[in-house]
Amino acid sequence: MIKAIGYAAKHSYSRLKPFEFERDEAKANEIEIAVLFCGVCHSDIHQVKNEWSNTVYPCLPGHEIVGHVTTVGSGVTRHAVGDLVGVGCMIDSCRTCEPCRTGDENYCEGPNSWLATYNGPMVPKAKAEDGKNHYGRDNTFGGYSNVVVVPEDFALKIPVGLDPATAAPILCAGVTTYSPMKHWGVQAGDKVGIVGFGGLGDMAAKIAKALGADVTVFTRTKEKLAEAERLGVTGVLEDDTKTLAKLKASFDFILSTIPEKHDVNPFVKLLKRDRTLTVVGALEQMAGVDNSQVAFHRRSVAGSLIGNLADTQEILDFCAKHGIGPDIQVIAIETINDAYKQVIDGDVRFRYVIDMRTLKRAD
Ligand code: NDP
Ligand code: ZN
Repeated sequence: MIKAIGYAAKHSYSRLKPFEFERDEAKANEIEIAVLFCGVCHSDIHQVKNEWSNTVYPCLPGHEIVGHVTTVGSGVTRHAVGDLVGVGCMIDSCRTCEPCRTGDENYCEGPNSWLATYNGPMVPKAKAEDGKNHYGRDNTFGGYSNVVVVPEDFALKIPVGLDPATAAPILCAGVTTYSPMKHWGVQAGDKVGIVGFGGLGDMAAKIAKALGADVTVFTRTKEKLAEAERLGVTGVLEDDTKTLAKLKASFDFILSTIPEKHDVNPFVKLLKRDRTLTVVGALEQMAGVDNSQVAFHRRSVAGSLIGNLADTQEILDFCAKHGIGPDIQVIAIETINDAYKQVIDGDVRFRYVIDMRTLKRAD
């Protein structure tokens, strides 16, 4: 067993605190990674606070992980000791269902779905056959720790030229916004709207711009209009009804990253005929869609979940090639609870990334 340390929450109402635990040694197809950096996704906060009603405690979050390979199993061929690699939201899937066989592991239809990097399995315990995941534990522990062990094919290669701290958020925020843009065919010249200008919004705006789109971000925060200008995209306040009226039926694709229930109808109206608004932010029951706005223009309202492994590698490589990445603030693990508060208040610009080397064994 590997003695590991991290930061975990014991209950939905508790702060993250130092936590010691054990991980299994790498099996033949697995690699052990010394974690350098881990991004702080709003999903970590939803999960720690049990806002999706499926959290198993202790909860040790973190699914935007970058580190060096320190050990490889006997059958490993993709990675070598010393390689810089990344791990996103998944560390395994059933590998046999139709989505897994066709490279959409993130839509795995196996009995436990894909295995989440932390708090796996992502199904209520009562529904899992034995209440355990593939590893025989109640839940997985994520990247707010010094070491992770994962199957080699669920570790991505961090391309040369990408700074390791900057690369971390691409593993979730990057692929979660890239995957729907790819799926719905965003291309150069398209007009793309991004709703909610936080960690995902920042990545989405940069990726869409690098794809050649004409990008508008919709924000409720006046100060972020200047941030939009700095990125070379248009910023519009969500309650600026005059501007929204002018933008009616002009967008080819809109992505909503707002982290809670919200009214999509003001944004549906902005879509051209036959175009799609995809919600990635709120993974919960949403208020009704005005179907007259949808039907009259044959528009669609859709959802999308993270991205598959191939798309994750693709967006890492794309970011390296185009010299783009998230705006990050590197923090020490001791400040994680303050960082959560800032994210909840919408004060982060735009992603906190924890320097895991600040994690010390309590002795
Ligand atoms: P952030 O908190 O970094 O950004 C969200 C942004 O949305 C905020 O900065 C703010 O931007 C805006 N916002 C926040 N609250 C509200 C509100 N009540 N009404 C309107 N706007 C609001 O979060 P992330 O970008 O990390 O994550 C966004 C969401 O996406 C989370 O819910 C996360 O769980 C989810 N997610 C979903 C995934 C998927 O696979 N579908 C994968 C990863 C994350 P502004 O100031 O511009 O208004
Ligand atoms: Zn995430």
